[in-house]
Amino acid sequence: MSNDFDPNRPKAEQLAREVSSALDRAGIHHILWGQLAFSVYSGNFPCNHIDFVVPNEDLDRACNNLDSTNLPCVTDNPSCSYWLIPEGSHAERIFHIDALNADEVLIHFDIRIFPMSWALPGYQQIAYRTFTDVIDRKDLILCSDQRLKGRFIYERYPIRMLAPVHYLQSIISRYLGLGSGLEIIRQFHREVITPLNEEGDTSEGFCMESLHFSYNIMLYSILHSLDENEIKATAEGVQSYLNAYEAHLSQMQEVREGLEAVEEADEEDEEPNESEETTSDDEQSDEAKDEEQMEDVNGDETQVDVMDVE
Ligand SMILES: [Zn+2]
Repeated sequence: MSNDFDPNRPKAEQLAREVSSALDRAGIHHILWGQLAFSVYSGNFPCNHIDFVVPNEDLDRACNNLDSTNLPCVTDNPSCSYWLIPEGSHAERIFHIDALNADEVLIHFDIRIFPMSWALPGYQQIAYRTFTDVIDRKDLILCSDQRLKGRFIYERYPIRMLAPVHYLQSIISRYLGLGSGLEIIRQFHREVITPLNEEGDTSEGFCMESLHFSYNIMLYSILHSLDENEIKATAEGVQSYLNAYEAHLSQMQEVREGLEAVEEADEEDEEPNESEETTSDDEQSDEAKDEEQMEDVNGDETQVDVMDVE
């Protein structure tokens, strides 16, 4: 927990709870992201931006739901960072709130709803506890998680967010090659990841082994080089590798689907005849072997590559 009490924090948590419960009622998957999330991880960061990520296809529905709660969509408040910026010039949708904080001071809050493809490039789903490049890994936690320095304490509503290392990965992919985000990545590493490492937390999403090897390369470059062009070159190299890796995965998926189709067709053709049954058993065991090999390629490749890098 941060030593400094942030008088804006109780209101920020309340607004986050209101948005999250409205989205839950509408059945829209969402996670807390951005500035308030950063404050939850680090315990020491402003919290005037209450950011949520929703699947692209649910962005309009999410905003319509929030509209119906009468949140203002435009502002003339000069302390708003969107003041005078025309709507449509940014990916996120914004709802503006002027509210009293714990010190009875009028403060401007922005509730921002981001489409997933913008905020979390590389993620296929959120809130399904599935991380796209390491199947079955658990990437989500609650804002009230005891391990987080700035965890929610004023609200108990179960709001989901990425585990810290997955959040680190999300901001690396978000800011890949963009100078403006590099300092945020360094700060997040310094204030959140390093202390976690020092505590020796080995749980999923809290230890650095949860970070995909390609992002480890990027992170190393961001932490150890101040030359933006050098970092950009690394980012491009990693990106082209990831593209090839993704193409490889989808190729393997096609092969797998082809094999399954052949298998199904075989099963339909099968006759309950003893002499043929022996042949069919042999075939099946061969196919099972093929499948096992493919699973090795799909499932274990990441780990093999991680070891290569190390
Ligand atoms: Zn605003």
